[in-house]
Parts: sequence; structure tokens; C-alpha cells
Amino acid sequence: MLMSSAPSSADAVPYFAVDLGAPDLGPWRAGNTGVSGFWSFASTAPGPHVMLVAIIHGNEVAGAHVLLRLLQDRIRPVCGRLTLGFANLDAFDRFDPAHPTASRFVDEDLNRLWDPAVLDSTRQSTELGRARAMRPLIDTADVLLDLHSFQSAGDAFAMIGSYNLDDRSWRKNMEANLAVEDPAFTRYVRQWFEHDLARANRIDLTSWRQRATLRRGAEWVAFALRKLW
Ligand SMILES: [Zn+2]
Repeated sequence: MLMSSAPSSADAVPYFAVDLGAPDLGPWRAGNTGVSGFWSFASTAPGPHVMLVAIIHGNEVAGAHVLLRLLQDRIRPVCGRLTLGFANLDAFDRFDPAHPTASRFVDEDLNRLWDPAVLDSTRQSTELGRARAMRPLIDTADVLLDLHSFQSAGDAFAMIGSYNLDDRSWRKNMEANLAVEDPAFTRYVRQWFEHDLARANRIDLTSWRQRATLRRGAEWVAFALRKLW
């Protein structure tokens, strides 16, 4: 969710102008695991169970956009198991761009319930019911990435540049990134990214392993020479 701040007021609840609203989950809200909104895909090769979860907070819709894209692109694991889950669907369904903080949860914060004593208690709430339904799946995950969004007010920003967390790009190549805080610029970067993505070729692990011998040799030489300049 890309948000920008409006003129400040004395209101306790911050106001956000929403640039990127809640996506339509369409058929993807059903799931294939017996838990609504949770999709699981297993490879025939053994490996870890990796789980990506979005909308633990119903108003943090950016993660839902990410999972939706992975589902629509039919991303499948080369080994192990991949699970993609939309967590708090009841709160997400109440998302209103005019009141984007109101749909964080229905009864209580789903992110504060992951304690066996709470989950095993007799207490009832919308989120406790959901957490108990999700729990058997979550208990089988080896790695879980939980996608959230910033809740504080601020202009949408875009990070551009060539620095890519590679030590060489920072120390040797003197590369840099620039964070630009401007909604119009951010929209432009997003459209630019989507434009490039539409023309990109996907490389998966299987096709990468089958790349030509000549290319492998060139990669090996480039890797060996990288410290020389
Ligand atoms: Zn959150």
C-alpha cells in the first residue's frame, strides 16, 4: 500500500491517502488446503516447507498484491513445498480506502495471538478462530515470511539506483541508491517497473541449470577476474 500524508489535524487516527488499494482476490481466496485463502504446492523433490503470509493485518494490502502475483504467475517450488496464505480475510474484506486504518482487524490483533496458551484457551474471537484454523499449516512451515506494511504516515517513496547489497557495488564501484519521496515519481517508477516486467523473460532454476556451456565458461572467467578491478 502506497500512502501519502494529508494536511495534519488533531485527529488521533492518522489519515492516509491510498494510492494502491485492496486487490480483488477472485478465485484465489478459496485456497486448496482446507483453510480459506491458503494455497500449498509441493514438489516431488524433498526440501523445506516455505510459507509466505500476507494481510495478518487486514489493511496492509501490499502483501496481498505480492501473493496474488505469485499465484497468478503459477510459481511452483523446485523442491520442498511452497505455501501462500491470505491471513485475515474477514478484516481485509472490510478495507475502505477512505478509512484505511479501520480494517486492521475485526475483534483483535491477529499478530498478538501466537502463544500456545492463548491459542489453546477457550476464549473466542474472529481472529482467534482464524488463528486456530491457520495453526496446523503454520506448524508445518520450516521458514515463514510474514509480509506487513508501514502504518505510519508519510509520502510514498521509491528507491532507485544500482547498489544491490553486493559488497563490491558499495566499496569498489562506488554505486549509490537514492530514495525519492514523492507520490507522482513513485507512480512513474511503478509503471516503469510494470512495463519492464511485462517484457522480461523468467529464469527458473531448471532452465538456469540447463544454460549453455559457453555461457557457464564466461561466467566462471568473469567470477574469477572480479577482484582484479
Ligand atoms: Zn502489520
